[in-house]
Amino acid sequence: MPSLFIGHGSPMNAIEENQFVEGFRKIALEIEKPKAILCISAHWYTKGTKVTAVEMPKTIHDFSGFPEELYQVNYPAKGSPELASATRSMLEPIPVALDDTWGLDHGAWSILKHLYPDATIPVVEMSIDYTKPAPYHFELAQKLKSLRHRGVLIIGSGNMIHNLGLVDWKNFEKDNYGYDWALEARETLNDYILNTNYAPLVDFKKLSQAVNLAIPTPDHYLPLLYTLGLREKEDNTTLFNDKLLAGSISMTSVKLA
Ligand code: ZN
Repeated sequence: MPSLFIGHGSPMNAIEENQFVEGFRKIALEIEKPKAILCISAHWYTKGTKVTAVEMPKTIHDFSGFPEELYQVNYPAKGSPELASATRSMLEPIPVALDDTWGLDHGAWSILKHLYPDATIPVVEMSIDYTKPAPYHFELAQKLKSLRHRGVLIIGSGNMIHNLGLVDWKNFEKDNYGYDWALEARETLNDYILNTNYAPLVDFKKLSQAVNLAIPTPDHYLPLLYTLGLREKEDNTTLFNDKLLAGSISMTSVKLA
């Protein structure tokens, strides 16, 4: 199975038709149908690492101020307590909590709805431990590589460039629109990803002022480090949905396969 990072963008992508959701659908068609999905979402940011371990994860509408239609979306995929347990075993001695309170947040369902609209593939979410530094996340992911050989599609869901405080809401529909610093940050990050030079990406705070503006908080960036940590030597790197949005967001997504 490939290792994917998907820029999820606005929750509205769940119910809109646009170039990004077309990109989500297209990438799923390029991939053999997975047996299960493990999704690391920017929107499950916890103390300690957790995995959802329930038979039927609920669809969580973890946002406010959006149209009613978005709150009606249900993504009825089953969970996989087996995959949750397997993930926990593989990560030992790192303690991983089996969680029965979370479900699928929009970091997972807003993209999975387009990748696999019939919701027949079981999904487990894994949280991001906000108490840990970037190298911890990159190294944790490496322990999960064997899942890729067991039919599990692992998806990091976030946005590499994600500065909500600086979003230009008036220009949300403008194609590939980014501030100068966002253009610079995208070039820097994309170059390192395409050249498989991951050390500077793990140590991203040292990269440049532009990258620091792109990543004011690490929550939406860290899922990328999981995707990269899962790389196997023979993987090729492809970018898709490589566009800037509203000045200070990027939808750039990565496939390692
Ligand atoms: Zn988000």
